[in-house]
Amino acid sequence: MRRKLAAGNWKMNGTTAALAEIKAMTEEVTGDIDVLICPPSPLITGAKSVSGDIAIGGQDCHAKPSGAHTGDISAAMLADVGASHVILGHSERRADHDEQDDDVRAKTIAAWEADLIAVVCVGETLAEREAQNTLDIIGGQLAGSIPDGATGLNLVVAYEPVWAIGTGKVPTTDQIGEVHDFIRAKLERRFGAGVGRSVRLLYGGSVKASNADEIFAVSNVDGALVGGASLTAADFNPIIKALNASL
Ligand code: PEP
Repeated sequence: MRRKLAAGNWKMNGTTAALAEIKAMTEEVTGDIDVLICPPSPLITGAKSVSGDIAIGGQDCHAKPSGAHTGDISAAMLADVGASHVILGHSERRADHDEQDDDVRAKTIAAWEADLIAVVCVGETLAEREAQNTLDIIGGQLAGSIPDGATGLNLVVAYEPVWAIGTGKVPTTDQIGEVHDFIRAKLERRFGAGVGRSVRLLYGGSVKASNADEIFAVSNVDGALVGGASLTAADFNPIIKALNASL
């Protein structure tokens, strides 16, 4: 009942030359799963022109629809150039821009007002995991970052342990399963079983072709949010293929 989703976060990587990679990714898209690429904002229009059935998203938006916020981008602006999703609360935004759960919640409301699907990221640091605080941290981030009104159509949650992002370190499948089951239970408790079961949960953190199969076999993993391995079709197409194969 939940469509699988392979999502790529290009972060601050890529110029117009990289649009050829998105075009090459369309060749792996079968229609049985959803595929999303979130390039830097200046590439969204170009990405839309080559993306076929691949959805295009932003990597952040401001909480306000317009105004005196130099350098920021509103959710309506993303929607206007064809974005359907926006990543919010990524740990790099939380660290680099001091984004707190309240900010993420306000941005999620703004995304929904612009009819964007919010991909809300949560995840613990290594120190928090070592102190055995992972579930408390994730629970707090979920409660603080996700507004009332979530549905399976307007929200995707990405579990991204901070220590696994861009490091090549990946939690065990048991650790991923524990957190995903916990997130599912939290969503069901807060939003009811129907909504809670319909929200897709992505794992993110050093996903690559060689570990995708085992991650996609974990309970309550509905896909992946992929950074480095989403930049080229050579790396991302095998991940799309692995997600298709997990159906
Ligand atoms: C990310 O930035 O969301 C991410 C998961 O990065 P990577 O796949 O490179 O670890």
